[in-house]
Amino acid sequence: MTPAADATISIRKSLLRWYRFNQRALPWRDNASPYGIWVSEVMLQQTQVKTVIPYYLKFMETYPDIHDLAGADLEPILKSWEGLGYYARARNLHKAAGIVVREMEGKVPKDFNQFLSLPGVGDYIASAVQSIAFGRAHAVVDGNVKRVLARLFCLETPVNQGNAHKTFKAVATNLLETRKPGSFNQALMELGALVCTPRSPDCTTCPLAGDCMSFDRGQTDEFPFRIKKKKVPVHHIAVGIVRKNGRVLITRRKLDGLLGGLWEFPGGKVENGEPPDQACVRELREETGIKVEPQAFLTRINHAYTHFKIEMDVFYCNYISGQVTLNGPIDHKWVKIKKLHQYPFPRANLKFMPLIVDEN
Ligand code: SF4
Repeated sequence: MTPAADATISIRKSLLRWYRFNQRALPWRDNASPYGIWVSEVMLQQTQVKTVIPYYLKFMETYPDIHDLAGADLEPILKSWEGLGYYARARNLHKAAGIVVREMEGKVPKDFNQFLSLPGVGDYIASAVQSIAFGRAHAVVDGNVKRVLARLFCLETPVNQGNAHKTFKAVATNLLETRKPGSFNQALMELGALVCTPRSPDCTTCPLAGDCMSFDRGQTDEFPFRIKKKKVPVHHIAVGIVRKNGRVLITRRKLDGLLGGLWEFPGGKVENGEPPDQACVRELREETGIKVEPQAFLTRINHAYTHFKIEMDVFYCNYISGQVTLNGPIDHKWVKIKKLHQYPFPRANLKFMPLIVDEN
């Protein structure tokens, strides 16, 4: 439903006034450069503000300028992203920085479509950076915005449906205060984060309550609509910590795909009916070419990714024989346990790393 013109004006005014007095002090709101705003928006995708803050501060200290990022190696960048997840974001940001420095005189492009053409830049990032950094009138649509709009206008399009972005983008564009698009976009996201929260929206303090259709109808609990998701599959994984001469074996994942470029302990999927320790021996042989023998069970780790979960059994293994010949990973290293922290690892590996001890 399209809001009436007077409701639109009232929502814009109330929201911007509320934002002026209620916005959180965040490091990327403090005179950040277009590059800093870009970094913050990349980190904020799929990740909560309080998680992002320390990562952002450290990242900007290490790579204060786009030239610093473009000139850096990928591995330390992944290390600084370690634990934040969705590592393709870091790889794409690095690639995009290189393009900006080589082909765009090191300046974040002010042209929406040129910016959109960079690796990892989709409609959300482009709209957020262009509106906040350059005052361009592009509406942002993220999870918070969709929820607020669905409740404000009783929109029945499920927020997780394929074409939801298009529908909500049209509504957000219609509502956008084009004279202050950066503040307006941030205000809408901030309202979703602080007031119009997923559960129990605080309608009594909401600046938009007077214009909110779901509040007026007593239906705030019913919005936003969602399509029920299928249950995510659970994969059983076996992983080996192969110890040899005071070092352990780690391998590096291919640069593209899930967790691309990160280091990990080798292993793989347990087949149906296969004992996990035997799966570990088989996977080690297939992936690295070496023969190992399980020595002791270390721990089981549960970890959730976006589309699946894993149960990971971790074994200490004795190295028996063979030279490392990689099938899948792109690199390997025998590393002292006290040096493991120098490499970027996926969060599932970080969960058991503090438990690893040297051989007696
Ligand atoms: Fe959300 Fe309630 Fe405000 Fe409506 S009145 S926008 S449901 S917090």
